[in-house]
Amino acid sequence: MKTLENFNFKDKKAIIRVDFNVPLDKEFNVTDTSRIEAAKPSIIKVLEDGGSVILMSHLGRPKGSVNPEMSLSHIVGKVSEVLGVQIKFVENCVGKEVKKKVTELQNGEVLLLENLRFHKEEEDGDETFAKELADLGDIYINDAFGTAHRAHASTTIIAKYFKDSKCFGYLLAKEIDAIEKVLRTGQKPITAILGGAKVSSKITIIENILDKIDHLIIGGGMTYTFIKAQGGNIGDSICEDDKMALALTILEEAKKKGVEVHLPVDVVAADDFDNAAQTKITDVNAIPNGWQGLDAGPKTLELFGKVILESKTILWNGPVGVFEMESFSKGTIAIGDFIDQATKNGAFSLVGGGDSVAAVKQFGFEDKVSYVSTGGGAMLESLEGKSLPGIAAIIED
Ligand code: AMP
Repeated sequence: MKTLENFNFKDKKAIIRVDFNVPLDKEFNVTDTSRIEAAKPSIIKVLEDGGSVILMSHLGRPKGSVNPEMSLSHIVGKVSEVLGVQIKFVENCVGKEVKKKVTELQNGEVLLLENLRFHKEEEDGDETFAKELADLGDIYINDAFGTAHRAHASTTIIAKYFKDSKCFGYLLAKEIDAIEKVLRTGQKPITAILGGAKVSSKITIIENILDKIDHLIIGGGMTYTFIKAQGGNIGDSICEDDKMALALTILEEAKKKGVEVHLPVDVVAADDFDNAAQTKITDVNAIPNGWQGLDAGPKTLELFGKVILESKTILWNGPVGVFEMESFSKGTIAIGDFIDQATKNGAFSLVGGGDSVAAVKQFGFEDKVSYVSTGGGAMLESLEGKSLPGIAAIIED
């Protein structure tokens, strides 16, 4: 895997695809700088080597036309502050003015291009557009994991114009490494904790990881499709009836492959989908009508905790309850605590894809797990076993 470490950027112009798709408030202030901070190490490496940096990114979904609300000019101040370097900005990403600014760029300087997605050609993966971007830099660095699953001009197509002079940025390399650690090189026992609302959105992940893991913990709304399929009484809990047969197939497959599946044994049931609802602990197989399971129960957490604490590699995707409501967040917090403990004991833990990242951030577990993935869709596709075009384009010549 070629990373920035394989290059010296002295007198070179590095064109870096970053993910500066950051949240903005109504006054266009950046409200979360984590994506900028995540890209900082790669940018600093080029500058410290004595090179210059051209940054390209998208912001929002302008769908191929100029939309001042989604201009990257709004983030110039914040990027400068985070990097500790006053960056320059150009109001387009291709064309004469851009070429001029790039020619004038000195070693030690950073130039941010305008939103790539103001041009339809970006998402179309247009070759001419990609070539125009490529012509701006001597070395191409992809450090945007969040868009690595898209074959866009700046994430994939551009790479072919840099035969030997392309590499992964530090952030992207870390993401690839974290996935490798879970899916290929992880120390056993390997445990996947899958939660979230629906079985249907996790099927491909389950199918791909069954060959690679020792334990599968199933929690959250997904639980009830499995429980009902096995004949349990789930009351009014969320359930995908059309996925019950599939749930049974998954359990059979897991058995054949020697994967131990752990389902909840008790739940926090509520008489309404509401934080202020009445609650009681019930057996997962005996939830009364009019009640729905909204969080993992105490016996379940004890059971899950035991498995997590014995694991050497842990993947967590999806909350085990409706964590957005305080009354049903305890299970998800407990899972975070167990993973924290296991990580302190030497396990490698990866949290990725969708709402588990939101949960981890909300409850302050970010620094307690080994790695929190920044790319929702890209992480999910990696876990599903798909090859990401943005990654393949750097590896292939
Ligand atoms: P996902 O995006 O698939 O990870 O699903 C996350 C969502 O699942 C969160 O918004 C949770 O509130 C929801 N969820 C978790 N457990 C349950 C449950 N028992 N019933 C309904 N929704 C749930």
